Amino acid sequence: MNPAFLDDLNSRQREAVESTEGRIRVVAGAGTGKTKALTYRYAYLVNVLGIDPANILCLTFTNKAAAEMRQRIALMVHSGDYNDFVCTIHGFCVKFLRKEIYRIGYPKNFTILDEDDTKALAKQSMDELGIKRTEKTVKNFLEAIGSQKALEDYITTFLLPGAKVTDEMKKSAFGNYVSRQVKLYALDFDDITNITSYILDRFEDAREKWQNELNYIMVDEAQDCNADDWNIIEKLSARHRNLFIVGDPDQAIYEWRGAKPARFVDFASDKDIILDENYRSTPKILDVANCVISANKNRIPKDLFTRKEEGRAVIHFHGKTEKEEVEWIGNQIKTLMENAGAKLSDFAILYRSSYLSRAIEQQLLAQKLTYTIWGGTRFFERKEIKDAISYLKLIANNNDDVAFERIINVPSRKLGKAFMSSLKATAEANMMSLYNTLRAGIDTPEFSKARPFVDLIEDCITFGATSSISDLLNRVLDFSGLKKALREDQDEDRLENIDELVSSVRFYEETHAEDGISLSDYLQDIALYTNQDYRKDSPTIKLMTIHQAKGLEFPYVFVTGLSEGIFPSMRTIREYKKNGEEEERRLMYVAITRAEKALFLTESEGFNLSTKMNKYPSRFLSEIKRNMFVTEGYMPEELWRGTRNFLHVLDEEVEEEFPEKEEEGGLKPGTKVEHHIFGTGTILSSNKENTTYEVKFDRDGAVRFLRATFLKTID
Ligand code: ATP
Ligand code: MG
Repeated sequence: MNPAFLDDLNSRQREAVESTEGRIRVVAGAGTGKTKALTYRYAYLVNVLGIDPANILCLTFTNKAAAEMRQRIALMVHSGDYNDFVCTIHGFCVKFLRKEIYRIGYPKNFTILDEDDTKALAKQSMDELGIKRTEKTVKNFLEAIGSQKALEDYITTFLLPGAKVTDEMKKSAFGNYVSRQVKLYALDFDDITNITSYILDRFEDAREKWQNELNYIMVDEAQDCNADDWNIIEKLSARHRNLFIVGDPDQAIYEWRGAKPARFVDFASDKDIILDENYRSTPKILDVANCVISANKNRIPKDLFTRKEEGRAVIHFHGKTEKEEVEWIGNQIKTLMENAGAKLSDFAILYRSSYLSRAIEQQLLAQKLTYTIWGGTRFFERKEIKDAISYLKLIANNNDDVAFERIINVPSRKLGKAFMSSLKATAEANMMSLYNTLRAGIDTPEFSKARPFVDLIEDCITFGATSSISDLLNRVLDFSGLKKALREDQDEDRLENIDELVSSVRFYEETHAEDGISLSDYLQDIALYTNQDYRKDSPTIKLMTIHQAKGLEFPYVFVTGLSEGIFPSMRTIREYKKNGEEEERRLMYVAITRAEKALFLTESEGFNLSTKMNKYPSRFLSEIKRNMFVTEGYMPEELWRGTRNFLHVLDEEVEEEFPEKEEEGGLKPGTKVEHHIFGTGTILSSNKENTTYEVKFDRDGAVRFLRATFLKTID
């Protein structure tokens, strides 16, 4: 007898739900109901088998996904019958450590360092050790610490109560940084998983207790777990062996951050369940998704099908300018709301990198369409943007004390609290603004150390009197050290935001060329974007990066900024070559498969300051069969040629780093080979060195890339 709620599921999902014992893997494409099956399985364990929720660990990828999963579960089980073991792996490790960290002598209220705290601590170490930021960036410093933490038993050497940390040890970068952490009982992200693993490994009673307690473990989006995640999951499930993992190798989008999709593919399962019916999208959307992902070579082919009605055509819009692109998006939304009964919350606008939200946000504000940035900050509220704008504000108006206070010490000029309070007292006594007080007293010993700052502002005031706003902004960014600090931190996202601000100012100047606008006019105009009052809980359009959109679904989806260099990201391709391109393509697949009713793919012409290139339509658009979408807007055919040229240039760059090396010999295409697991197959191609072959296997028709040493020729 089946409980009624299982009637919502198809037979394979039901099998997944009812296969409660052993190591079960669900492999399936987007929108096939993996997360749904996982949620129902939780309810099944609790409602039907009577498992206490305290014995079920259910892991998702982000805090938001965990919150959503808890909500879904709450609808199916009695109130109180689920607990906070529905969380991310880090969330779980923190809960674990609050109970267990005493074992390594740490208090249970240990501190967790966020990214900024970690950087600040790294800077202190670097300063003390005299490591110049020009020699090593903070990011590199921290990466080296992270790698060393992965390799060494630093917990025994540095963290345990009896650890003997000598002054000599503190002279190394690693020793210095870690001892600072120990002094504060502060854990960074790596420590949270490292210490959890350590305790599970070294303390048998802790291991047994948790292994016993966690009767059932379930993991969503398992293709994006990293090695630490896997180790912890495997350890925790070692006793009961009830491990249920779901994932989709085509949606692996975090290899750049250490995810190990191969662990998902090679998982030793007792049972595999494959789902192939998509319940989310229309056939037209699905065709586009299947078409895009099929261009990836390094994958196991699988196609999704749906029984949904045909639905609307997928639309590609080509704008002559970025402004045209975002206007079109705004108008589509309005039209769908007026004619198709769509609500604001039905729309998602997705982009590859967060700086791309700027143009969209300004357009939506102009059209009075309310929006929320999912998992991020509004463009004009981002720190680096506020800093840059505050410089401009102070230059335009020396009496702007708010702007002054924001930037007097950004980047750091070592003007501390004492300096500020004495400046404030003098300003108050003289009834003058902070900046004017500082300028008037710059020759006094009290204030003279701020001379470089006053010189900078004065120089910019003079320069700005005759320059354009964008030139002034560039001067501010260069001479203040704002840009240099971001470069030293290798903070690419913030640098992109800064570039975007500059290009938006240029655009503003171009469109107001006739009006003779001043800096104050510009600042007044953008005040509209900085002083937005909006209710966070009202229904809104969602804007987000594609990474943030993983696992979510929306009736109407716009995938924007589809230009070569932007998406796929030139940076990723340069850094990770062909693997990077394939990961970008999987990201495109994730983006497309978020859409339920309609999909819009948009891009435009123009110059992109981040890539320093003219924009051409993305290769991902050119890979979609022409009969699968309709183009709106005038799209000159020669632009596709631009795409091809772009590909050519980039490919040459990639080749240059791997000099061509034709090896003699090797197996020719057509050769029959045998593999100990996959059976017999035929060679399709090889790499230059003949160390890896592309083989089509007879048994399942799949194409796989295999190392030569694993293949035997057969006659
Ligand atoms: P992704 O790979 O994007 O994470 P997924 O495989 O986790 O997708 P779900 O989010 O679980 O897919 O489901 C996609 C949509 O299909 C949801 O709206 C879900 O309610 C619906 N759905 C799933 N299974 C069924 C079913 N058997 N019958 C009807 N609708 C279903
Ligand atoms: Mg899912």
